[in-house]
Amino acid sequence: MIRFLLCLSIFSIFACSEKSRECPSVFFGGEIVNPTSDYVVLYRNDSYIDSVRLDEGNRFAFNLQGIEEGLYHFDHSPELQYLYLQEGDSILIRLNTMEFDESLVFSGKGSAINNFLIEMFLIHEQEEPLIYSYFKLDPDTFDKKIDSLRAMKVDHLNELVAENQFSEKVLTMAKAAVDYNTFIHKEKYPFYHKKKTGEETIHELTGEFYDYRETLDLNNTELAYFKPYFDFIKYHFSNLSYMNCMKYCSTENKAVHDYLHFSKHNLKLVDSLVNEDELRNILFRNIAMDYLLTEHEASKECQIFIDKFGSLSTNEEHKEEIAHLYEGIQSLQPNSNLPELTVTTVDNRKVSIRDISKKKNTVFYFWTASQKGHFRNVLKHVSKLRKKHPEYKFVGISLKTSFPQWQAMLSEHDLDPESQFYGENFKEIQTGLIIDDLYKCVITKDTVVVDAFANLYYFKPKKSPKI
Ligand SMILES: [Zn+2]
Repeated sequence: MIRFLLCLSIFSIFACSEKSRECPSVFFGGEIVNPTSDYVVLYRNDSYIDSVRLDEGNRFAFNLQGIEEGLYHFDHSPELQYLYLQEGDSILIRLNTMEFDESLVFSGKGSAINNFLIEMFLIHEQEEPLIYSYFKLDPDTFDKKIDSLRAMKVDHLNELVAENQFSEKVLTMAKAAVDYNTFIHKEKYPFYHKKKTGEETIHELTGEFYDYRETLDLNNTELAYFKPYFDFIKYHFSNLSYMNCMKYCSTENKAVHDYLHFSKHNLKLVDSLVNEDELRNILFRNIAMDYLLTEHEASKECQIFIDKFGSLSTNEEHKEEIAHLYEGIQSLQPNSNLPELTVTTVDNRKVSIRDISKKKNTVFYFWTASQKGHFRNVLKHVSKLRKKHPEYKFVGISLKTSFPQWQAMLSEHDLDPESQFYGENFKEIQTGLIIDDLYKCVITKDTVVVDAFANLYYFKPKKSPKI
């Protein structure tokens, strides 16, 4: 277990130099401009460490003792970001929630690695469209482009290393931020290349293309909760599963087109290649979740698959979570009653989603204030759908937004309060309607589910929508 103690007073930090023995070993604090919540919450992997309330000046301070060195994250709802902490750190942040990641700046002792991590995060985000345009290139050209993007980051890291005393652990973290964000593109390449070029089969790749695989660490617990690493591992195993299937099960050079079959390959590969318990468990969980959310059907095969997952995972919480998800999926099958979930109106009244959908054909869609691009796209798309399908009522539910912010957004964008609702309890709504994708929508007919796993962009009226 992680051991930590909290100093009671934030004022003690300023007296550090005189009474160094009583001092907290790690300080993390700062100021949040335009706060979206009253708290900052600190986590180590998926474990809660501590939370503090913002003061009147929107400042906060954590004083931590005896904490484990490594990757943490702090959450200022609804956003979060990584934080690397080690003994003796004294880190100050400043951030503006209007542009959370872009505005985040670290200063003080321990800030170099943290600024590097956020920089890498932003650069990779910016590079996405460029990389996407590279997928059509032949493997060699693609490889060179990707390598040169990586080389720039490595140069930057080398400069930092020359200026700062990075420990071995910090250096590993920094390298991981460069490498796994890069290598993931190579794991994606064969599939995106096929899609973009329209080639019939997966492009033949020489061993060199995957050279970096020799340096991979598939058992790094420290990185298990670092998204670039975990995403990379996921793609890596998907790639291997696909290639394995091509090799051992395929006919006519095509992998078996069945997600259950594919997921079984995936479970088997993780079982044989990953030894580290925690990483194994979160990968198993991810494969099971992915399968359930992709198929979202209730069937005997599905139960067999879940049992298989249960026999591999040693994490009881994950098993419960997957069982719960499967129950949810079963209860959202066509013709089931909509679950009893409550949302809030613009004048702060509670209504049930069953009442909203009563005697109507309703499409529930979802948005969140922090994803502005998604919000604009969805609004535009829904207004088109409304014109095209006047027999449906399109109802927006806002999640992970604060109530005043939601009210302000309704009036700013002139949204009809009759078809906009505020979802206060994110967890309940997310699990009740299984919201795994922000473009998901739930189609209902008079309180009964028609399709709980539809996509707003592929919306098609279902049979006999007349009531
Ligand atoms: Zn196969």
